[in-house]
Amino acid sequence: MAKKEVDDRFKKFGTVSFTAITKTNDFVDYLEKGKVMGTKCKDCGALYFPPRSDCSKCLDSNMEWFEVSGTGKLMSFSELKYGPVGFEDDLPYTIALLDYGNHKVFGRISKEIPFEDLSIGMELKTKTTTLPNGQLGYVFERV
Ligand SMILES: [Zn+2]
Repeated sequence: MAKKEVDDRFKKFGTVSFTAITKTNDFVDYLEKGKVMGTKCKDCGALYFPPRSDCSKCLDSNMEWFEVSGTGKLMSFSELKYGPVGFEDDLPYTIALLDYGNHKVFGRISKEIPFEDLSIGMELKTKTTTLPNGQLGYVFERV
């Protein structure tokens, strides 16, 4: 029996890789190229971030990639002083939700923006980053 090749590109993503194998592995290839991508349903136009390979609205798998570009409005943020296992060395860090109008992106605020400078409604952009341990990721930065 032929050995099945394991598509484990997601191992390169994030402080702790929670998903080793998914149908959206191209996400990591795009990060390597400096692009943060979500998926769009070709049938109903629904946008997903993080990318999904199936549309929860029409239950179809007719998806294409779109780039998270431009700026989003800071909707919500919270500084974490305790993190899940594997994230201890990153503490404290700030998680946030950006509203891009037709989709939302959940992620972390760049450590270059002091917590005191954050305010609801401010414009931020989503950028790829390389974490201290060499893993790929993305952060929210000043415009
Ligand atoms: Zn759909």
